[in-house]
Amino acid sequence: MADSDTNAAWLARSRAAVWHPCTQMKVHETLPLVPIAHAQGAWLVDFDGHRYLDAVSSWWVNLFGHRHPRIDAAVRAQLDSLAHVMLAGFTHRPAVELSERLAALAPPGLGHAFYASDGASANEIALKMSFHAWRNRGHPDKRHFVSLAGSYHGETVGALAVTDVALFRDVYAPLLNVNARVPVPDARRGVSVEAAAAALDAYLGQHAATTAALIVEPLVQGASGMTMYDPRYLAQAREITARHGVHLIADEIMTGFGRTGTMFAWEQANAAAPDFLCLSKGITGGYLPLSCVLTTDDVYAAFYADDTARGFLHSHSYTGNALACAAALAVLDLFRDEQTIVRNRERATTWRQALAPIAAHPRVRDFRQCGMIFAWEVAAAPPDFARRFFAEALAAELLLRPIGDTVYVMAPYIVTCDEMAMLGERVAGILDRLP
Ligand SMILES: *Cc1c(COP(=O)(O)O)cnc(C)c1O
Repeated sequence: MADSDTNAAWLARSRAAVWHPCTQMKVHETLPLVPIAHAQGAWLVDFDGHRYLDAVSSWWVNLFGHRHPRIDAAVRAQLDSLAHVMLAGFTHRPAVELSERLAALAPPGLGHAFYASDGASANEIALKMSFHAWRNRGHPDKRHFVSLAGSYHGETVGALAVTDVALFRDVYAPLLNVNARVPVPDARRGVSVEAAAAALDAYLGQHAATTAALIVEPLVQGASGMTMYDPRYLAQAREITARHGVHLIADEIMTGFGRTGTMFAWEQANAAAPDFLCLSKGITGGYLPLSCVLTTDDVYAAFYADDTARGFLHSHSYTGNALACAAALAVLDLFRDEQTIVRNRERATTWRQALAPIAAHPRVRDFRQCGMIFAWEVAAAPPDFARRFFAEALAAELLLRPIGDTVYVMAPYIVTCDEMAMLGERVAGILDRLP
């Protein structure tokens, strides 16, 4: 190891040259960046040899741990034939196979896959496709969208326009299209499924003629603070949007790939498929940037014509990147060969037991679980709670990154029961210590 391979050296160089995401860079005057040298399984290791349990799956992307031998091998093998080729006018085996396999796993009827590289772009694609499909069908006035209170759909200008997180959104409000927001069912705030569905129905009763689509995060709203809601709402939203002639976009960028206990959260709705299913994050097991929008024959047919401009001319340079698709195929192999969804049912139970010291802690409110996701609020949290908790957690070898006073665990599925028990005890200790 070179002398300069220390945390201190890398964090100084990073602060000077890298503008970090979702960060007021000045906080790094006092809160050190953590330079990661390597990772293995659920553990990250910094340049000074400290290790951290990656209990937030590196921003919700990692499913099977870091340096998984099968995903590593799949990416290496793909390198021997093709890293990338443009997907306009060309195609390749990993993109074709991935599209077929995603369609087979998704709710029935979503047989057309359009690729991008990140979640926000997937949502932008769904929004644009929805609008354009209606336009091609002679309804150009359907150009507004509805999202739920507390929604998060990404941070590009289009995705932010359907996002309801004030801290991310308010500054840019002058740049954003005006879209409507309807209530999310949330027992904590006394909003029932019936009340939320009635509000959607009433809104669309007035505005269906100008509304292209409703966009939702099925079952769990992540970035605004892990609101978990009843799957019955999804069934009602599907019925209401269909009745009013409005598309439904299911943003499963976080909830997809087993997080909520089923492969896709939508399965729990017991309803007809959404018109669009947006996937990213876990799709490559946290290896490579990739996102995908699956849609229906009906939407696809709205674009299929002799006229070029009726086509969906959206593109990204790295659309359907072959290395990323190969990683995604390895992820789907793991789900199949290791029976991940079945085994996660046991893990969800043992993890919950392991987190009992948190659930029972006197400062913990609304301890909740949806599949492999756990969240709770911390009572009497000071304004800088999230940052202080984050720092305390790092000192306890844990990567946990609260959203305000909401703390959550969204760990890779390979975290063991002992590791989760260690996390439960250490977090309870932090809650004892922290003001
Ligand atoms: C993370 C996330 C996005 C945005 O994905 P990026 O890859 O960060 O652009 C969109 N929707 C949901 C529900 C997400 O959790």
